[in-house]
Amino acid sequence: MTSPRTLVFAAVAVLLLALPLLPVPEFWITQLNLIGLYAIVALGLVLLTGVGGLTSFGQAAFVGVGAYSTAVLATKLALSPWLGLLVGVVLTVAIALVLAAITLRMSGHYLPLATIAWGLSLSYTMANVEGLGRYDGLLGIPSLEVFGISLHEGRKVYVLIWLVALLAALATLRLLDSRPGRAIRALKGGAAMAEAMGISTYRYKVVIFVYAAVLAAISGWLFAHYQRTVNPTPFGLNRGIEYLFMAVLGGVGQVWGAFVGAGAVKLIEDQLQVWLPALTGTQGNYEVIVFGVLIVLVLKYAPDGLWPAINRLVERWLPPPRRRKDWADAPRLAERARPHAGEVLLKVQALRKEFGGLVAVNDVSFELRAGEIMGLIGPNGAGKSTTFNLLTGALPLTSGSAEFAGHTIGGLPAREIARLGVSRTFQHVKLLPEMTVLENVALGAYQRGASGVLRAMLRLDREEERSFFAEAERQLVRIGMGAQLHELAGNLPLGPQRLMEIARALCTDPVLLLLDEPAAGLRHQEKQALAAVLRQLKAEGITILLVEHDMDFVMGLTDRIVVMEFGTKLIEGTPAEVQASPAVRAAYLGTEH
Ligand code: ADP
Ligand code: MG
Repeated sequence: MTSPRTLVFAAVAVLLLALPLLPVPEFWITQLNLIGLYAIVALGLVLLTGVGGLTSFGQAAFVGVGAYSTAVLATKLALSPWLGLLVGVVLTVAIALVLAAITLRMSGHYLPLATIAWGLSLSYTMANVEGLGRYDGLLGIPSLEVFGISLHEGRKVYVLIWLVALLAALATLRLLDSRPGRAIRALKGGAAMAEAMGISTYRYKVVIFVYAAVLAAISGWLFAHYQRTVNPTPFGLNRGIEYLFMAVLGGVGQVWGAFVGAGAVKLIEDQLQVWLPALTGTQGNYEVIVFGVLIVLVLKYAPDGLWPAINRLVERWLPPPRRRKDWADAPRLAERARPHAGEVLLKVQALRKEFGGLVAVNDVSFELRAGEIMGLIGPNGAGKSTTFNLLTGALPLTSGSAEFAGHTIGGLPAREIARLGVSRTFQHVKLLPEMTVLENVALGAYQRGASGVLRAMLRLDREEERSFFAEAERQLVRIGMGAQLHELAGNLPLGPQRLMEIARALCTDPVLLLLDEPAAGLRHQEKQALAAVLRQLKAEGITILLVEHDMDFVMGLTDRIVVMEFGTKLIEGTPAEVQASPAVRAAYLGTEH
């Protein structure tokens, strides 16, 4: 069954593509051509900046690479535009990879600065290299020919431009709704969590940077053959800022917002070109100042941009489709072999973490055997969460060692520890509030699949997706959240958010599960249900290390307990031994014994 939304989308697409057949004035065709070309670039920024949280001012320069590559090849060497497209895209990918390699491993503002530098250096090159025609640019670029049809008129290029724009939008939508897409959506605000699920966030930053650059280059290629001439002006830093403004104004992170933003900016630009010279009495590039001010105003007063408001109208007529439950018969994801019960699974020796002068974890040692539930308790600030962070690679350790199932994990990056079968929840819940509970949990299954960006765009990943969602639902049902699959994770109360994190961790098919205060915020009955689930997991051969303040919960559930205080291990023993210990009582009551 096709949803009404899909039908309306198809109808609008057909209407848009057939527009030149109608008696639309030439002026509007020209405007729409430019809007389509802008939207292709803005679409890349929606993914890069809106979804991924990475800012680039250099998109116009990538448009320039696409335009100049084909212009040079066509005018100087009389080569085919298709070869020009290939060369432009390859060159763009190479430049984007170099910029990514230099800046994306560093945090902070290196990428925006590097893209500004890149934009300026390309402008300088275009304007000063003799072979590129300097400020005059290159003339006499041939128009495109597709299936023997010459696209020498605006009305004909229009169809190609909008076909590319709509296909790019469709590909981006599909990408966002996939295994790599969920990883991309985790980049902004969920990087630590994503790494703990086995995702290389660096890799996906590179992916979206290259993707956005390639869309820009394709737009440039279309532009060059449409205008039949190129010069440096449309590829400068000013235009780079305008592209960013389109993405922001349209609606950060909204695919259709790219089109709204491109349209709005084009219309504003036209008006400014009429009004500004009249107001200032001079011919100058004052638009960029106005756009700068507008960006600040939009970010301050309408940070979500225009699309959400339009979308509310759309949703009134066409409610968003619920994800259809089509995964009932999906094949089960492969599972890991579990170690034999009683084998030493985790061996922690003299584990140490110093934060400046503070010793948060002070040479702590313990062993955890397969199939055990171990409690890690101690007053606030004892170093329990820091111990978790060291064992899962969220923090580098100062000294000591940790071995898991024969692998040295102390000092490994979080995602590599996750791939070995260590999964965790966080004391301060880390989820993606705009994603449904089901999608958040499916993120946990990331490392059990293989579908990449291309498969996602071509929708060749649906079989694997069904398996992901079947697994996510199974884990959610087991944890008692089967009724909340389609709620937005951000709308859940804290207790269920914690349960959702456990389901997400279970989706990774863990051998060792580290739970940081899983019962906090749960009601009595919910705690009992959680304890039952954890016992069930133990019966299935999962080993659990658990931080928890509710002593009834810990004492009733665990096989052994490690008590920490001020970073140091106080004692280790069975629940009964720990309860009987005067030292533990002193630690909790704060009295000397
Ligand atoms: P617990 O989980 O047992 O309550 P934590 O492991 O969170 O304790 O904290 C142990 C100590 O380390 C505390 O004094 C805390 O303030 C400090 N600490 C934790 N994380 C950091 C950090 N990233 N930077 C500096 N100090 C930290
Ligand atoms: Mg803690």
